[in-house]
Amino acid sequence: MSTAATSFPERNAAEVADLVLTPEAAAPEVRARRTRQRRQMYIGQVASYSLGASVLLLYAFDGAISLDVASLFWFGGLLTIGTFAVLSEAGVGERFSDHYLTVFQISAHTALQFVFLLSVPTIGITFISVLFLIFAFGSLRMTSAQAMLTWAIATCGLAAVFLASDLPIGLPVATRLQRTASMLCFVLVIGQCAFLGLFGATLRKVLYRRSIELKAAYERIEELAELDELTGSYNRRCIMRLLDAEIEKSRQASTACAIALIDLDWFKRINDAHGHPVGDEVLRTFAITVFANIRPADCFGRYGGEEFLLLLPGTDGEAAACMLERLRGIVADLDWSAFSPGMRVTISAGVVTLRESDTADTFLARADSALYSAKAQGRNRISTN
Ligand code: GH3
Ligand code: MG
Ligand code: MG
Repeated sequence: MSTAATSFPERNAAEVADLVLTPEAAAPEVRARRTRQRRQMYIGQVASYSLGASVLLLYAFDGAISLDVASLFWFGGLLTIGTFAVLSEAGVGERFSDHYLTVFQISAHTALQFVFLLSVPTIGITFISVLFLIFAFGSLRMTSAQAMLTWAIATCGLAAVFLASDLPIGLPVATRLQRTASMLCFVLVIGQCAFLGLFGATLRKVLYRRSIELKAAYERIEELAELDELTGSYNRRCIMRLLDAEIEKSRQASTACAIALIDLDWFKRINDAHGHPVGDEVLRTFAITVFANIRPADCFGRYGGEEFLLLLPGTDGEAAACMLERLRGIVADLDWSAFSPGMRVTISAGVVTLRESDTADTFLARADSALYSAKAQGRNRISTN
């Protein structure tokens, strides 16, 4: 049996595991999209470190710190980003459920901030404020367990710095330039956090819209799986399922239930004389005619070829025969010459009501035998036995 023809349960376990664990791993366009997204993120991070380094430059310009701190902060950031960018381009992240490697990124950037916090504690608040930004970024992708873990690591670091040391952690505000730099430090972090928040909100909106689209697509698929493509009536599988359900319902509610097996007369001749496409149009028009003349509770489906099954819940034999007789008359009286000059279309039907001893099969067999008898009696008629 070919792979394409193999049903899902028959696939071997490894294949199934592959599908479940790495559903998108084989899709190159998905990988390309992810790589693009990661590149955008690294560009954003470079911009963020550049802004941070610019604030440090102001402190350095004022003499509060050495110029080396600003350049080392920038290079340190770039080195960290570069490392993850290289890993990203090599596709390392694709092996993890979170291809952004968020936890590793957060840990690396947090560690970098602590290195600077310990080295230059006099502007320590600047580096601590960056932690807010790092965690705002992380919250976009981390699971709650990962968030707890990284938060615990950051807490340990902060406890070590604040409680286990006497480092003079501060924020210089002695001069106008220092005050400006300190203000900018907060302004930038707040702005970037807000941007990340907005980004998260947009993502949520996109996901919400996608979920609605998916639901609509799923409903359409379900609808297509139930309908016959040509006539828009239920397909055989569906009408048989509905027949079982109707039998069950009518038994439980002790109500009558009738069915009619309807067959177009001499349909082969119609095809032969007017062509298969005209035959298709006749089937479609017949189905539309039925839909226009049945109740909402009735179910109409294509049993096969030019044979249809009509379920008439809560209908006794007399009412069902009457309804079918009316339908037969409507079909026979339609002006079919619009399809092809001189064309006539008639139907025959076998109508039966549910008996105590009936199964779906015997119920259908009786309808089929009634239909056979309608045909035998000359067609264009309804038979109830
Ligand atoms: P009877 O009155 O005894 O039912 O005669 P009939 O010609 O209708 O019955 P028969 O079973 O000999 O032929 C049925 C024809 O229906 C043959 C088949 O090609 C045609 N048919 C089945 N499905 C389709 C379809 O989807 N489109 C078209 N155009 N023809 C179809
Ligand atoms: Mg026929
Ligand atoms: Mg037939």
